[in-house]
Amino acid sequence: MSEGSSCEPKTRLLRIGTLIAAAACAMALGSCAKSASPPRASFGPDNPFYAASTLPFQAPPFDKIKDADYQPAIEAGIAQELAQVQTIAENPAAPTLENTIVAMEKSGQLIWRVMEVFNAVTSANLDPELQKVKSIEAPKLAALDDAIYLNSKLFQRVEAIYNQRLSLALDPESLRLVEFDYKKFVHSGAKLSDADKEKLKKLNEEESTLSNAFSDKLLAATKDAAYHTTDQAALSGLSEGQIASTVQEAKNRSATGYVIPLQNTTQQPDLAVLSNRSTRQALFEDSWNRAEHGGPNDTRDTIARLAQLRAQKAQLLGFPNFAAWQLEDQMAKTPEAVLKFLDALVPGSTANAVSQAKKLQALIDKQKGGFQLQPWDWNFYAEQIRKQKFNLNEAEVKSYFELDNVLKNGVFYAANRLYGLTFKERKDIPAYNPDVRVFEVFDADDKPLALWYCDYFKRDNKQGGAWMGNLVVQSKLLGTLPVVYNVANFSKPAPGQPALLSFDDVTAMFHEFGHALHGMFADTKYPSLSGTDVPRDFVEFPSQFNEHWATFPAVFSNYAKNYKSGAPMPAALAAKVKKTQTFNQGYDLTELLAAAELDMQWHTLPASAPLENPDSFETEALEKTHLALRYVPPRYRSSYFLHIWSNGYDAGYYAYLWSEMLDDDAFQWFEDHGGLTRANGDRFRQMVLSRGNTEDLAKMYGAWLGAPPNIKPMLKYRGLTQPGGSK
Ligand SMILES: [Zn+2]
Repeated sequence: MSEGSSCEPKTRLLRIGTLIAAAACAMALGSCAKSASPPRASFGPDNPFYAASTLPFQAPPFDKIKDADYQPAIEAGIAQELAQVQTIAENPAAPTLENTIVAMEKSGQLIWRVMEVFNAVTSANLDPELQKVKSIEAPKLAALDDAIYLNSKLFQRVEAIYNQRLSLALDPESLRLVEFDYKKFVHSGAKLSDADKEKLKKLNEEESTLSNAFSDKLLAATKDAAYHTTDQAALSGLSEGQIASTVQEAKNRSATGYVIPLQNTTQQPDLAVLSNRSTRQALFEDSWNRAEHGGPNDTRDTIARLAQLRAQKAQLLGFPNFAAWQLEDQMAKTPEAVLKFLDALVPGSTANAVSQAKKLQALIDKQKGGFQLQPWDWNFYAEQIRKQKFNLNEAEVKSYFELDNVLKNGVFYAANRLYGLTFKERKDIPAYNPDVRVFEVFDADDKPLALWYCDYFKRDNKQGGAWMGNLVVQSKLLGTLPVVYNVANFSKPAPGQPALLSFDDVTAMFHEFGHALHGMFADTKYPSLSGTDVPRDFVEFPSQFNEHWATFPAVFSNYAKNYKSGAPMPAALAAKVKKTQTFNQGYDLTELLAAAELDMQWHTLPASAPLENPDSFETEALEKTHLALRYVPPRYRSSYFLHIWSNGYDAGYYAYLWSEMLDDDAFQWFEDHGGLTRANGDRFRQMVLSRGNTEDLAKMYGAWLGAPPNIKPMLKYRGLTQPGGSK
């Protein structure tokens, strides 16, 4: 999946530095006292979260869980965790691995038990009552995180163990955990003086306030900046259905005429079909300038200060810039490594974009357009070339991708050929919605490995996109096996009709199942290091890697069959379906690179830098990185770059591309070693997929591949092997 979908796995909410935890922390710091409300009296053995589930794999007893059960369980869980952590911190005995580090791993089992389920349900099956619980409990959960990581007595114990770690004869995983915990404390500011801790809290508080302000302003600005017209002729090119929805949008806003609401990205989908050039320009400019109109929803002052205070925070924590602090625990490790990686992609990508632009300009000239290609023209002309070249009939394509067939003969089939897994549907295990299916997963030796739930169809109370999560995290210490789920938003067919998927949907199934494999193969002692709890620039690697099997000939031909006749997809059609994947790469990669470079430029500012003017900063940043192409603007402009100002991808947007380098490189290794074989799969499972975060990830990857990651396969799959050549 590209960055566009929110396909990241839902990682554990507390303790682990994750997108979700980071966002929740930001919300709470300074805004509430570091004490949780006492558990409600109503929490007792009748609450289904009170004890571990007795169902197979400790699967949540969804048939017994009611909305009213969550809040008392969360509050009791917070109180339990606080008390347990306090006991560890106050222990009069000298600190040991067992009485401190391992004790922390064992603590908080109630809060984990309820939060894994609560996260799953509030993302995929929300209702107003749960929404209320969520907003009440989020700051309390984040404060719990602070209570752990800014607890100086607890840190002293962790630090004492860390300092003697090399003389303790620890097994490698325990050594990794000691280092992981210590770094997490230090990263969060545990080593600062009390005065500096106060400064840090103030900066964190301001950051969280500004981050929230940014997302509120942007939401309002994006809504206000929707394209509006009263002239239907301006909308020529839109289908009847699309026009009807613009009328509906206008009605929703009590406006007359037609409204096209804006999507997050710079480019807007309708720009591919709107034939009136001035409409395209107006819609594009509405998007580009959405948050730069002055007034209360202009975000520029907010982001200038955010960049500055992040640099100040990094300085306080002993780093030259924010990116250096943020990247410390990532696979890439340093801003220099990220910049080197991005810079290496720029020449091929921009050369490809320039060459594509020439083709688009030629088409404009052929049609006697009489103008120079601009960003609002790109998709309109690219779409014409795409149609000419591929002429795909979407309905025909979908007739070869029936969901159950894709699942069993595609996704499961690849997992069987690679890893020996088999699957059996378990209708006896309760789920949170009738659409959810549950499968028991068996290992090659027929031993039960995991439970896997899938919840594929769109619902009104489900977040957009697709994702993976754990209901139970694997841990040998806790004696738990993985319970994992995949969620997506495919269109639900009418009763009795087959669920036919687009090829993008098929790819999404393989993608999310790749995350699921990472969770299900987890084979670690400690829950904090298990499964998908890995750095942001590694976590998309197993999922994007698994996408490659969707187009692998032996897998594709096994599932791409007509749902009525069972006939395989004709070779010519199959070739086109696969080939469309690399169309428009020059543009797609260049706009991603521009956004990633902007993120890095903002977050490598030193603390001494003045407040920047976002517009001139952005222009200079793009020029400096050789990405100032008139017709390929960044995927997000600084003033509406939600990922980096509010969603936890600060100095992290590159991670999507970094993971892509890994997955393409890894797939090349498979191709070079015989492709879809058990030997390849088992080796990958043993050395990577089962290992979670138990080892330095660059080392883990290097040991498996026998070399550091290589960018060449990514250039090949992106169709960029020859700069200037395009597809
Ligand atoms: Zn993903």
